[in-house]
Amino acid sequence: MDLVAVGTIALDDVKTPFGEVKSALGGSATYFGLAAGYFVKPGIIGVVGEDFPPQHLNFLKDRGIDICGVEEIKGKTFHWSGEYRYDMNEAETLQTDLNVLADFDPKIPESYRECGLLFLANIDPDIQLKVLEEVNPRKCFCDTMNFWIDGKRDSLTRVFERVDGIIINDGEARQYCETPSLVEAGKTLASMNDGIVIIKKGEHGCMYFNGKDVFVLPAFPVTDLVDPTGAGDSFAGATLGHLAKHGDYSDKYVRKSIVCGSAVASHVISGFSVGGLRDKTVGDIECRYQQFKNLVQFE
Ligand code: AMP
Repeated sequence: MDLVAVGTIALDDVKTPFGEVKSALGGSATYFGLAAGYFVKPGIIGVVGEDFPPQHLNFLKDRGIDICGVEEIKGKTFHWSGEYRYDMNEAETLQTDLNVLADFDPKIPESYRECGLLFLANIDPDIQLKVLEEVNPRKCFCDTMNFWIDGKRDSLTRVFERVDGIIINDGEARQYCETPSLVEAGKTLASMNDGIVIIKKGEHGCMYFNGKDVFVLPAFPVTDLVDPTGAGDSFAGATLGHLAKHGDYSDKYVRKSIVCGSAVASHVISGFSVGGLRDKTVGDIECRYQQFKNLVQFE
């Protein structure tokens, strides 16, 4: 496999100023896989409960995602409920019900064990560590969120020390590093593993640190913002999908991949749940990539 991710597969309740959805398809592995699927055939590792609608799994399969690492167990699917107000850069988490995630003991398909790139998407850091023990990737990246920084900081530190790259939100980078400065946070995180750090800043784009240089990219200026849920996971999915496809982790390729990530993320937010990606083709992503080129050119 070129790319394997472990993360949540969720049923989300989301409210924004533009409407709301209940029990909609979500989760970090879901958005990651859908976005990565524009570049490679990703495999996802996750768990769902008996209430998970089979059509969601069929949708993921139809989009080219290998779901043989997705297990159904007795109980209810992981459920997240969140609300965004007019500042859509931060969701207010109303409720997190771990449900089947609380007992999740990931079983790694044999074909995933020697993968090119492993992504430890936002999930319990102890599960991230377990998967890292059992998979032997060429490169490994991770993400996290405040829920795990608050609850499992020590395990998370062990994850950060073992990966080659960290993709994390600005608020969470500040919280983990206990600094208001994103530059300082980026450098601190990069020094933990001598790797790559990408800090996501929502509508303000992202910053990339590699211990030597800093690269910044704005978010694509869209007006059809409806629901930002999944933008971060999709950014990671497309960025790493592009990197995994080319197997080139040079600074130049990381920068190009970040533009791919930002291109896919700019589409996700135009609909609730995975709606923003349903009708988007590889051609749409390539078109946005070109628009990005024009956006940042100044001479
Ligand atoms: P983002 O890309 O950051 O907007 O992530 C959105 C997804 O994260 C939602 O679909 C949620 O189901 C999922 N999520 C929310 N809380 C957690 C958590 N504590 N751990 C893992 N995934 C989560």
